[in-house]
Amino acid sequence: MTAEATPQNMNNAPDWLAALPPLRGKLMPDVVLGDICWFRVGGSADIVFMPADAEDLSTFLAALPRHVPLTVLGAGSNVLVRDGGIRGAVIRLGAAFGEITQTDETALMAGAAALDVRVARAAAEASIAGLAFYRGIPGAMGGAVAMNAGAYGGETRDVLVEVEWLDRDGEHHVSAVDALDLSYRHNGHEGFKVYTAVRLKGARGDKAKILAAMEEISDKREDSQPVKARTGGSTFKNPDGTSPDGLKAWKLIDAAGCRGLRVGDAQVSEQHCNFLINHGVATAADLEALGESVRQRVHDTSGVDLHWEIKRMGEARA
Ligand SMILES: Cc1cc2nc3c(=O)[nH]c(=O)nc-3n(C[C@H](O)[C@H](O)[C@H](O)COP(=O)(O)OP(=O)(O)OC[C@H]3O[C@@H](n4cnc5c(N)ncnc54)[C@H](O)[C@@H]3O)c2cc1C
Repeated sequence: MTAEATPQNMNNAPDWLAALPPLRGKLMPDVVLGDICWFRVGGSADIVFMPADAEDLSTFLAALPRHVPLTVLGAGSNVLVRDGGIRGAVIRLGAAFGEITQTDETALMAGAAALDVRVARAAAEASIAGLAFYRGIPGAMGGAVAMNAGAYGGETRDVLVEVEWLDRDGEHHVSAVDALDLSYRHNGHEGFKVYTAVRLKGARGDKAKILAAMEEISDKREDSQPVKARTGGSTFKNPDGTSPDGLKAWKLIDAAGCRGLRVGDAQVSEQHCNFLINHGVATAADLEALGESVRQRVHDTSGVDLHWEIKRMGEARA
């Protein structure tokens, strides 16, 4: 079932749904997460909730029994959902959280479901410089904050002023960027939270120059990354973060002889060997086993332990 549903009219609904009050958003049982994540793998979520707005989300969180596990998904471009799916409730923000508004000469407000590329375009239209790096990142703003997404010398913590979020009880908060403890692909903001909106700040810029920088970023990506493949982006963090002279995960993977390595239909990209690719019928188990094999080989050849950047979630198939 993918249409709006109330707890009362779902078949095989989990018992806890009966505890929920009427909601204006969509409650969808048995959603195959492989259909909405970039890798195109992953089992079903018991329930996906797409709130109508922040108030609806707050009502849902406040009423949801405490024993029900909760997961948040954005555009699904940095996750590997396991084949057995996700128990409990998955929150996914939709178009209601996709608005982007210019708030002054150099600032934008964006909903957490606004795609990074739309934010980059809106900033360019408003002649706001500093956000062009979002041009090639295929996630949404909530995921950008959760991952401190960045590229080509820019990252979210450089442009984020504050973020609006709801906690596990549905309480609304606004936190300044410093409270999130953002570092290279890391967010140190403790506890469960759903980011709902961000305030971003750039600098006054020249629209033509910003658009040219975005074009350049787009071309570079097409040349160097399998951007049209079923992938999850960079699989492992660079051991030395963003340091220009530091160890790069792709170099270690290449030196360990893993370029092109396969497990079933899962392969280490020939084009960029820190990307894993699903050629069509790979399972999440294939992709995870391939990633673990890469980690082992890199450890054996260089002594370095790579850490997953991709967020693995859910259960293995029984
Ligand atoms: C082809 C390709 C290229 C990529 N290039 C880059 C790159 O250059 N730089 C880069 O940094 N990343 C890159 N990525 C990875 C990915 O796009 C980013 O990490 C992105 O920010 C993830 O956003 P998302 O909305 O897809 O989040 P998801 O993948 O859905 O989720 C990622 C994490 O964020 C959490 N999350 C998502 N939304 C919310 C929310 N509203 N509130 C709380 N938590 C939330 C999830 O729980 C999960 O832990 C690339 C991925 C692909 C497929």
